Amino acid sequence: MSTKTIAVLTSGGDAPGMNAAVRAVVRGGISYGMQVYGVRRGYNGLLNGDVVQMNLRSVSDIIHHGGTTLYTARSPEFNTPEGVQKAANQCRALGIDGVVVIGGDGSFRGARDLTHAGIPCIGVPGTIDNDIACTEYTVGFDTAMNTAMEMVDRLRDTTESHDRCSVVEVMGRRCGDIALNTGIAVGATAILVPEVPYDFDRDVIQRMKFTQKTGKRHFIIIVAEGVGHTAELAKKIEEATGIESRATILGHVQRGGSPTLRDRVMASRMGFHAVELLDQGIGNRVVAFRESKVVDFDITEALEMKRVFDKDLYDVALRISI
Ligand code: ADP
Repeated sequence: MSTKTIAVLTSGGDAPGMNAAVRAVVRGGISYGMQVYGVRRGYNGLLNGDVVQMNLRSVSDIIHHGGTTLYTARSPEFNTPEGVQKAANQCRALGIDGVVVIGGDGSFRGARDLTHAGIPCIGVPGTIDNDIACTEYTVGFDTAMNTAMEMVDRLRDTTESHDRCSVVEVMGRRCGDIALNTGIAVGATAILVPEVPYDFDRDVIQRMKFTQKTGKRHFIIIVAEGVGHTAELAKKIEEATGIESRATILGHVQRGGSPTLRDRVMASRMGFHAVELLDQGIGNRVVAFRESKVVDFDITEALEMKRVFDKDLYDVALRISI
């Protein structure tokens, strides 16, 4: 049996499923005979000593809640060499042998720095954006896509009643995955993503006109956050087609809500994998999901990887959205 002490924190933007990941780390750690601390408000909690000892019941009734019961934060102080040293010293003072960091790329940079300062860290990808290169999946992505789909379904009712065009912006920062998948799921006439340059006339107006000729009377256009200019696009569409067009920016509603089954299961698997690595004394790794398996990568190598956009799926969307 191990006698290690580990800590878990959530950092950066929150995502549905983070609680399921925290639960997996706490229960997984205790099952390995570890002591587990919960750190509140990301790296700030390490700096301020906002740390609580967790037990099996500390994480009861949280698997189905969105947000993060450990709270999250962005910590400018930690993002300095002095801040990292201070956090490492706090960990040593508390007897913490390793930390699981649930968050995005920024949080993993922090995890790498803390590892270099002597505290082995494991990153678990938690962000709705699915924008972490080393993994095909990030915790929160599925819930966010389903929320976006549900919201657009609601919009469609009114778009259809009025023969309008709805131009809907979904989240994802520089990554078009939410837009692409939501666009397919709602039958969007056009999907604009930052990974694929678009020609307004060819990729929006001509597509709308073609489907209009075949009898279509209302339109959904999905715009990724990384493309932006959604209100302007709606105006230009109305000018070019004469079809009344409305812009809707879904915004942070996509970050909330009860996590889907997929997010709960992925978070549980990834959180547990992080504990297994720390149990073996391994640090500086990011947990990832590749080809249906939970794997892990060196944090520095993971941060250098380039995301690959699913062009095949994009082509499917183009072919069937007619
Ligand atoms: P995310 O993890 O969602 O990408 P951020 O980029 O806001 O979110 O990062 C979250 C926190 O991680 C930051 O507030 C900071 O404390 C820490 N962090 C980010 N980048 C670095 C870095 N280069 N070095 C050390 N810590 C960092």
